[in-house]
Amino acid sequence: MIKFLDLQKINLEYQQEIEAKLIDVFRSGWYLMGKELFGFEANLANYIGAKHTIGVANGLDALRLILRGYIELGVMSPGDEIIVPSNTYIASILAISDNGLIPVLVEPEINTYNIDISKIQEKITPKTKGILLVHLQGRVVFSDQLKELAHQHHLKIIEDNAQAIGAEWNDIKSGNLGDAAGFSFYPGKNLGALGDAGAVTTNDDDLAKTIRALANYGSNQKYVNIYKGLNSRLDEIQAAVLDIKLKYIDRENESRRIIAQRFINEITHPDIILPEYPENEKEHVWHVFVIRSSRRDELQAYLTENGVQTLIHYPIPPHQQEAYKEWENLSFPISEKIHQEVLSLPISSVMEEKDLSTIIKVINKF
Ligand SMILES: *Cc1c(COP(=O)(O)O)cnc(C)c1O
Repeated sequence: MIKFLDLQKINLEYQQEIEAKLIDVFRSGWYLMGKELFGFEANLANYIGAKHTIGVANGLDALRLILRGYIELGVMSPGDEIIVPSNTYIASILAISDNGLIPVLVEPEINTYNIDISKIQEKITPKTKGILLVHLQGRVVFSDQLKELAHQHHLKIIEDNAQAIGAEWNDIKSGNLGDAAGFSFYPGKNLGALGDAGAVTTNDDDLAKTIRALANYGSNQKYVNIYKGLNSRLDEIQAAVLDIKLKYIDRENESRRIIAQRFINEITHPDIILPEYPENEKEHVWHVFVIRSSRRDELQAYLTENGVQTLIHYPIPPHQQEAYKEWENLSFPISEKIHQEVLSLPISSVMEEKDLSTIIKVINKF
């Protein structure tokens, strides 16, 4: 079976470096809020080009804390609206509703799977306070018009950069395009930890300070609590591993681009719609390689039978989840079509040439 993602193999690439570091941290006797975290925060800030990075426990917390930070700063209040794509992973939406804010869903473009920027303006009301952009599948979504629109309506642009670390738009890294960004280092993400981990990046001093306190029981000074905070920390072991892997992220993303290009050039089956390779290749880091077919379930069964593991990102759109039953009468036809037709093929920095050729050959014989 060609695995969808071979995490063991991905991490074994750095075995010596990671194991040596794990022993170091183990022997140091210091496991939280130490030099590994501060070192990784500084290196990630430098990589993204942002002034501040705050390591947190996971990607969902990163997004929750950004919105909570804006609430504590008086920029947003519970009941305000945040625009978000209707086909995103549920975490983007959970972060909004968890803060008592209202997610306002906007349909994606079918050819990029990213939010359709031209449909944002019609959803803006006096209650709209932000746009949560999701660079889905690893592809950046941004434009000068979007920036202008946000500026005109005093909206914060928050990036969900869980899937797109290393991507760039006009030489600016994703995570540094808006006002604040949330990152996930879930093991299967392009930059993956050995467990849960996340981060926030921002150039906003006040927001950074507020989030740092919120993630630490609402405290900037031990035993002095200024907010009803939470505990969301990135531990030393995860930070140390991420700091090692960050050095190789560009190289890994480059190998994903090469695989994506080959899939696009060589998959020729008429019932399969391939993703668009962006004109500027830097705009995509191919977190997943998603094809579409009206025969999706049949195709997936066929690939499994022929030794190729695939996944569906995602089978149920957020508005049809039981968790959001208040939206059960809403309809988002583009999202619904996407959720019915998409299939993710294996793609990773350690994929072997022979497996890539096998996948292409098997698909073309479907
Ligand atoms: C993975 C992911 C998250 C959540 O990250 P966790 O670290 O799993 O909490 C949020 N948004 C998107 C788009 C993701 O892919």
